[in-house]
Amino acid sequence: MKRNIPEEDDIKEEDIIGEVHFEIDKDAFKGPFTCCGRKTKKATKGISSKGQKITYDVWKCGKCGEEYLDSDQAGKLEDIWAIQKFLEGKSPTMERSLNYDGKTYFVRFPKDLTGSWAKKKKANITMLTPEKFLVEVAQ
Ligand SMILES: [Zn+2]
Repeated sequence: MKRNIPEEDDIKEEDIIGEVHFEIDKDAFKGPFTCCGRKTKKATKGISSKGQKITYDVWKCGKCGEEYLDSDQAGKLEDIWAIQKFLEGKSPTMERSLNYDGKTYFVRFPKDLTGSWAKKKKANITMLTPEKFLVEVAQ
């Protein structure tokens, strides 16, 4: 069978990750953290996108105002940024053939994007609509 993969499939991993970086506290994965000799307190922050306000939590120092993210907060913020990018039409997209083996539909992911999948055994699929799904490669 001849495969016809169009040039537009040339999306590299760095296109997906983007340019946003932040620090995750290296000593602890759960707050509160210590800053200026005292414990940080949870604070709620918001991002507005397309008229929607999305809130997320940070750990904030009452003295210097420095903000810290624990691993859960960092994960949520990453999801918010990804959704925001999607809503703004800035997420990389690609067209793939929808295959059917007589029982199940499946879609192939290009090798350039799956370098970190070698030890993964599961994918969590969230249905957004009957024709839109979010696939998260896990474990
Ligand atoms: Zn501080």
